[in-house]
Amino acid sequence: MIGGGQLARMTHQAAIPLGQTLRVLALRADESAAQVTPDVVIGSHTDLDALRRAADGATALTFDHEHVPGELLEALVADGVAVYPPPSALVHAQDKLVMRQKLAALGAPVPRFAAVSSVADVDAFCAEVGEAVVIKTVRGGYDGRGVVLTSGVAEARAAVEQYLSDGVEVLIEERIAMRRELAALVARSPFGQGAAWPVVETVQRDGICVTVVAPAPGLDPTVGAEASELALGIASSLGVVGVLAVELFETDSGGLMVNELAMRPHNSGHWTMDGSRTSQFEQHLRAVLDYPLGDTAALAPYTVMGNVLGAPSTPDMSMDERVHHLFARMPDARVHLYGKAERPGRKIGHVNLVGSEVEGLRERAERAAHWLSHAVWTDGWDPHA
Ligand code: ADP
Repeated sequence: MIGGGQLARMTHQAAIPLGQTLRVLALRADESAAQVTPDVVIGSHTDLDALRRAADGATALTFDHEHVPGELLEALVADGVAVYPPPSALVHAQDKLVMRQKLAALGAPVPRFAAVSSVADVDAFCAEVGEAVVIKTVRGGYDGRGVVLTSGVAEARAAVEQYLSDGVEVLIEERIAMRRELAALVARSPFGQGAAWPVVETVQRDGICVTVVAPAPGLDPTVGAEASELALGIASSLGVVGVLAVELFETDSGGLMVNELAMRPHNSGHWTMDGSRTSQFEQHLRAVLDYPLGDTAALAPYTVMGNVLGAPSTPDMSMDERVHHLFARMPDARVHLYGKAERPGRKIGHVNLVGSEVEGLRERAERAAHWLSHAVWTDGWDPHA
């Protein structure tokens, strides 16, 4: 697996019962996955030599992120490496313009968009679509970085001017009025088998995912089925192998629009570790190994995942002690920590809660995640009182 972050760490965890060993290409020995797998290659994902060392003798090569340049992946394919997803599919998760163009050509619902090569393109787009627009970097954005939600032409022009003068390629798209954000998570194997988990609701704050509710509460079953069909259709049309996350908007009128694609295990699927018969990490491995895919059924009516995001200032209380207190209060909390240093807003872990009462689960998952990052109970609970 290329990349040594938490996704590789949790994929390694899933590899163990399958009798597989995950080799990881990590930048540093202290990265999340490098801490836990015995087979680590230290090097950069932009260095062909390092990629070749990681791929040497492997059954398949896959990814924890989408930052490997396409031409290096093509070189690995030419070497005979089974690269999954293949570079021809992965480009749609690397380049937002290619993705928008391809999805539009496939007839998938996407926001109206245009390539931008000058400020004049912004004026032309706004004249046609209106002033509520979004400027996005074509490559390299994540967790809301590289996305500017604007409310007027002036703001959009300024953002574009800045990016273009920095030599960063951008696109413009309409700002969608939405009820909420959803994600349809599916997997596809080289054999062509597909599997879909229940469609989830994702809640973001400042462009970063904070909570995921599975399944999306109150989602019209027809819309849910439509979202799953859409995601399975995209996986098949693009030739994806592995997990595909299709980030969606549920528009104010109740329709769906595709926002983004990710071709790897995804934050919107962390709930599956405790809430589904097959976790997304195991499923990703099954897919890239061309095994039959696993059952994606939910184990309970609801699972809520709360991301543990680094607090503005790291608490004095150790993480060990925070976990101890959390378990004392919530014996059913499923904690997943990534072994990462705490920094403001950084994803350092997540908590899953599984049950039947969605609002209670949501409140508790958010409280547990906040406790783990801040060492503060949001309801003022005091274990010693
Ligand atoms: P990233 O690459 O950081 O994941 P996204 O394209 O997913 O970037 O955008 C981050 C967030 O910005 C989305 O989750 C959504 O909340 C908001 N957003 C993105 N595009 C639009 C849009 N066209 N209309 C409204 N909100 C948007």
